[in-house]
Amino acid sequence: MHHCLVCASSDFKITRYGNHLNKVRPRFLFLSYGFKIVDFLYRKVGLSFLKKTWLRLVFCRNSAPVLCCNACGFARYETSLNEHDLSTYYNELYHLIRGRKTRLDQLAHLALSNTDMPQRCIDQWQFITQHSQLSLTEDWSSLEIGAGYAGLSRLLKTQFPKSSPQIIDPNTVWKTYYRALGFHQIADSFPSALLKKSSYDIVFLSHVLEHVIDPYTFLQEIKSILIEKRFLFLEVPLCDTDYWNQDKIDGPHLSFFTEKSLISLLQSQGFTFCSIYSDPSQGFLRALAQSN
Ligand SMILES: [Zn+2]
Repeated sequence: MHHCLVCASSDFKITRYGNHLNKVRPRFLFLSYGFKIVDFLYRKVGLSFLKKTWLRLVFCRNSAPVLCCNACGFARYETSLNEHDLSTYYNELYHLIRGRKTRLDQLAHLALSNTDMPQRCIDQWQFITQHSQLSLTEDWSSLEIGAGYAGLSRLLKTQFPKSSPQIIDPNTVWKTYYRALGFHQIADSFPSALLKKSSYDIVFLSHVLEHVIDPYTFLQEIKSILIEKRFLFLEVPLCDTDYWNQDKIDGPHLSFFTEKSLISLLQSQGFTFCSIYSDPSQGFLRALAQSN
């Protein structure tokens, strides 16, 4: 019998991921058994001329159910994926599947000369500075995981030019970009043996937690690298009742959070809430927590 990772309830409803109205979703990609086939072809056979076609065809179905806890709202996509699968996916296949490789190269190049921050990053930054009880200062150490564009690190750097934000991101396309901004890309995945215990004042986690296999352990590891009483910022999609009734395709997510389940999960890992904010119209949940 399944038990909810967050509240231990065994009362679930089953839904289909990326297919909330039980329609066929030919463009929905990811996380079926086809993933293993693509991974094999990609690594062992190297059929590059077939690669893109394969990826687009094989990922066109989603086969696994999502178990949604009726007690706290936390939901899990029940796949057989392991850490290796995910690492392969994000390192090698994610942008290729989405046809983004070239665009991402251009984006990284353009982003260097563009000082206009996306509104979401600005809003996130305001949320952090409003709700952190301590003021951010020049010598604060930061880590942004799954950073991509690294908007929060950029805003920190803009405010405190002497800071040297640290970055974890699997994608090599950003390397030059990070270097030019004075960021240190210290690892491509988290947790990493390169990280020291209790060494960060703030960890940024924007739309990352829903992608990891085990959010429970992931948050434990985050807590271990945070200095006592310092901060974790995170944002995840808001997956309340309305979310499951929507007819939409979303990203390759493994966990789905409600306000209640996110609070419970963080508290169970030894975090105290400074603030949580949900925006149903834009579909996100934003939180600042402090390590105990
Ligand atoms: Zn639950």
